[in-house]
Amino acid sequence: SGSENLFDVKYKVLLLGDATVGKTSLQRFAAGKDFRPTIGSTIGVDFVNKIVPVEKARINLQIWDTAGQRNFRTLGRSYYSSTKAFILVYDVTNKETFHLIKEFCDLIEQADLDTERRYLVANKIDLMHNRVVDEEEGRRFALRNSMAYFETSCKTGENIDDLLEQVASDLVRQH
Ligand code: GDP
Repeated sequence: SGSENLFDVKYKVLLLGDATVGKTSLQRFAAGKDFRPTIGSTIGVDFVNKIVPVEKARINLQIWDTAGQRNFRTLGRSYYSSTKAFILVYDVTNKETFHLIKEFCDLIEQADLDTERRYLVANKIDLMHNRVVDEEEGRRFALRNSMAYFETSCKTGENIDDLLEQVASDLVRQH
């Protein structure tokens, strides 16, 4: 049956964002007890597997980290051409990291992929007193650039599961 074919379908999901925005923390939260930190990685990329149930299927999100923008630029088209979803992460307490999102969008557009989905993630919302990028600004940018918008905290875990469930169900739907 159709639903059986979806078992163990793997999708490559790429995290993009400046250093320290929380990409590794997001991977850690997604992987839970299976998280194994990469020690001294030379290529600067690594992934974790997150199984997300969607209806009767089990979707395997292979969540890759790029360890910063410079690496992403030099990874080349072959690396991200198989990417089905991009999660663009910024830190709501750091304006620079928000402004960098535009650059990542440009890079994705230059890659000229067949199909890709983009998610804008405003991370560290638990640090509300240090917040400098407000929700409206984030949502406006996401809307203008055809991205779904999520406010998250990798510290409390707020909305991380919602984000990953959304990614998985979107990918299954377009499959
Ligand atoms: P990366 O460089 O993008 O992989 O960022 P990391 O995941 O290494 O996180 C950088 C720092 O920010 C670490 O000290 C994390 O503990 C912290 N951090 C990540 N996400 C959050 C969050 O949502 N809230 C808070 N308060 N700290 C966070």
